[in-house]
Amino acid sequence: MPNRFIVGNWKMHNTISQAETLIRDILAIYRPHPSVELAVAPPHVALQAVDRLLAPTPITLAAQNVCAKDEGAFTGEISPPMLKELGCQYVIIGHSERRHLFGESDEAINEKIHAALRHDLQPIFCIGERLEEREAGQTHSVIQHQLQTGLAGLEPKNLGKVTIAYEPVWAIGTGHAATVEQATEVHAAIRSYLTTHWNLNSEQIRILYGGSVSADNAHALFQSPHINGALVGKACLNSESFVKIAKIAALD
Ligand code: PEP
Repeated sequence: MPNRFIVGNWKMHNTISQAETLIRDILAIYRPHPSVELAVAPPHVALQAVDRLLAPTPITLAAQNVCAKDEGAFTGEISPPMLKELGCQYVIIGHSERRHLFGESDEAINEKIHAALRHDLQPIFCIGERLEEREAGQTHSVIQHQLQTGLAGLEPKNLGKVTIAYEPVWAIGTGHAATVEQATEVHAAIRSYLTTHWNLNSEQIRILYGGSVSADNAHALFQSPHINGALVGKACLNSESFVKIAKIAALD
């Protein structure tokens, strides 16, 4: 497993043709490096087009959400087998926008993680505290609860397939990333929780930081041995800044 993982979450940006343009722009300037895995998470409708362009490259494909059910009367939902057939290797689960704008509970997120793993889709499981929780000194208890509930019932052998993305809600889309110290402190706590409760070797766990990562702050963030990469929102919509972040990850 490459020791750095950079994932671009496009959110609800880019039509199919815009997605193809962005991928072509990325491919024109990206030089893969063995220490970095790069993935993109376009909107569902663009997955097939993006997968075709990525097929001859080492860049991997992620979806932004998944239904916990395999099939049935669930209007508007997309199942794990559908994502699998579209070429996805990963799926983002529990993003704070899904939690807070669409009311996804920790329990629903747990179901989705189980469903993804049943179909060999690797979850990128997002957790993170809100500003008021941080200010009330609740960061660690919030994170611990999200981990405990989100990962409940998982077989230990499957935990290594889960990437954790620590995304403090107050840092997402605000331009105010966590400091290296703030991110490192929480990453270390996540690592210690997982190694203690799941009896894992800490190298088996990939923990990304997300929240206003940019080409300007990536270098500082990647100095932390606890930060294994980044989940990037805004900065991944520009080919140059996204590729620059990947390049910084390879150099550090
Ligand atoms: C995200 O939505 O996962 C994210 C990290 O967004 P941004 O980089 O724009 O803060």
